Amino acid sequence: MTEQVAKYMAQNARIFCVSLSDSVVRSGELNEVSGEPLSILGKLEAFACCIAALQKNERASVIVHLSLAGVGSYSATADRDGIVRGRPEEGTSSEDTLEVTLQLPIRGNYTGVVTGHGLDDLVATYFSQSLQIASACRVFESNGAFFCIVAEQLPGVSCDLEGLCAAASESLPQGEIPVGFEFLESMPFRFGCTCSRAALMRFVDSLSEADRADLAEDGRIITYCNACGKKYTFEL
Ligand SMILES: [Zn+2]
Repeated sequence: MTEQVAKYMAQNARIFCVSLSDSVVRSGELNEVSGEPLSILGKLEAFACCIAALQKNERASVIVHLSLAGVGSYSATADRDGIVRGRPEEGTSSEDTLEVTLQLPIRGNYTGVVTGHGLDDLVATYFSQSLQIASACRVFESNGAFFCIVAEQLPGVSCDLEGLCAAASESLPQGEIPVGFEFLESMPFRFGCTCSRAALMRFVDSLSEADRADLAEDGRIITYCNACGKKYTFEL
């Protein structure tokens, strides 16, 4: 039921439902976050997976940065092939912002930024500005799982997208498929990252002697992956 994106048809709309739990727990453990910050991170990771699932290119990646004024900043990365990670970031901006970068092979990167009030509003604004068709969306937490649900209009007869999104949000977290929904397919997501000790080692090796000395403490350099937060320690 969780760690996946499930796709449905209902009326003349396509519905995507991302549900995550274990992968968010893993992010929480790696970055030592819990409570409300973990809830925000979980919803952001579900949103990133949803944007990734909407991409046609199987090698696409999505990086999202969220800053909530006076609350905190977070990032999440989702790969179209089903891998997700996220972490809290330093600092906050003076207004709530959501930055979404699509990394598309050959075509390059596309970044969109929206401002608003709170995560729900930012996500709704992003979808309405970035999808070229009408849509409705929800991001929420239910019983320790994190959801992002999007209903997008298909060409032709227009339908009640808000109603479909509400029905999906009510039933799918309970494991029930709403009346009138047809299941199409699902795709798994799991926690993971492309970082490696070798890549971080190359970074440390690229530093000048002086920079290395600056960063070193007790004869070792401690660095963290900026996508998943994993800690790497290098003895000098
Ligand atoms: Zn990593």
